[in-house]
Parts: sequence; C-alpha cells; structure tokens
Amino acid sequence: MPLVPIDRPEFDVAIDLRYATERNFTGEPVYARALPFLHRHAADALARAIALARPLGLRLKLLDLYRPPEAQWKLWHHTPDPEFIAVPWRGSPHGRGVAVDLTLLDGQGEELDMGTDFDAFTPRSHHGDTAVSVDAQRNRLLLLGLMTAAGFDFYRNEWWHYQLFDARARYPLIADGAAAPRLM
Ligand SMILES: [Zn+2]
Repeated sequence: MPLVPIDRPEFDVAIDLRYATERNFTGEPVYARALPFLHRHAADALARAIALARPLGLRLKLLDLYRPPEAQWKLWHHTPDPEFIAVPWRGSPHGRGVAVDLTLLDGQGEELDMGTDFDAFTPRSHHGDTAVSVDAQRNRLLLLGLMTAAGFDFYRNEWWHYQLFDARARYPLIADGAAAPRLM
C-alpha cells in the first residue's frame, strides 16, 4: 500500500478537497468521500515544502491529492480538454498518488492572491502569465520556489499543480478498489 494519509498531525496543512464538494468545475462532487492520500514519496516531498513554508509564516492549503482513476474518467467526460484534464487512458499523476494541487495561506489563514481560482481553465492560469497582478505573479513564484526546492516538478498550464518528476514512468496508476481498499 504505497498511499499514506495526509490528514495527520505531522502534516501541518489545511485540506479542502474540492472534488469531494460542489466547489469544482463540474458543479457536483466527483469523490464519494474526501480521503486525502499521497504516495509516500510525494508525502515526503510535501513534508519538505511544509517545513520550508513555516519560517515564512505560510501554510499549504491542499486542494487535490490522490485521485482515483475512476474519478479521472468523470472529469474527462465533463471536460474532454487535454490541456487541462489528463486523458484517462494515459492516466494522471494524481492517479499515481504523486501529484498535489495547492495554494498558500498567510498567517491569518487567508489564501494568497494567485490571480485565478484553482481549476480556472484559462491562459491566466499558466505559469509566467503577466496579465495577472504583480502580487499574484510574486505569490505564484513563491509557491513555485517552495515546491521545486522540496522536490516537485511543475506543470506550466496550472499554477496550483505539482508532481514528482517522471511521474508516469516511475509510478503506476493506483486503482481505488484493488490497491487502496481503504478508499472505498
Ligand atoms: Zn493537479
């Protein structure tokens, strides 16, 4: 069982799995239950990011973690756009447990301005977009720096998405029924 739960005291993060709620681009829950899991390699990298953020007075707010491949099909059927949704027959790094969608919270627990919401399917969400405010550009670069220093790769079209390097080559998809019985 490579997946480990992230809702533990040793991970000092806020967790808001948007796909377990109606607050996602499909307008309805995609997950039957909100169970925050990551592959242990990704959990180790996440712990490094938490430790780097803490002295800056920042906390991580996690928006999506392990995503059962079954849920990937639901997202694809809603929006079959390969720029923003991993094609399910190839699989997402989320389905391998090695991707995390997140933003940053300040000392008051308020989300930093990142220029767009999570899952905004627009060029404004791309790294390096200069149409968003300078504050948002700075905050994105801060998140990029924390996550890459912690050992994550980034995805140029989504400021909120980070994953382990070579995710598809190194990590198999994890079915929620067979490999992760606790999820169902
Ligand atoms: Zn993602």
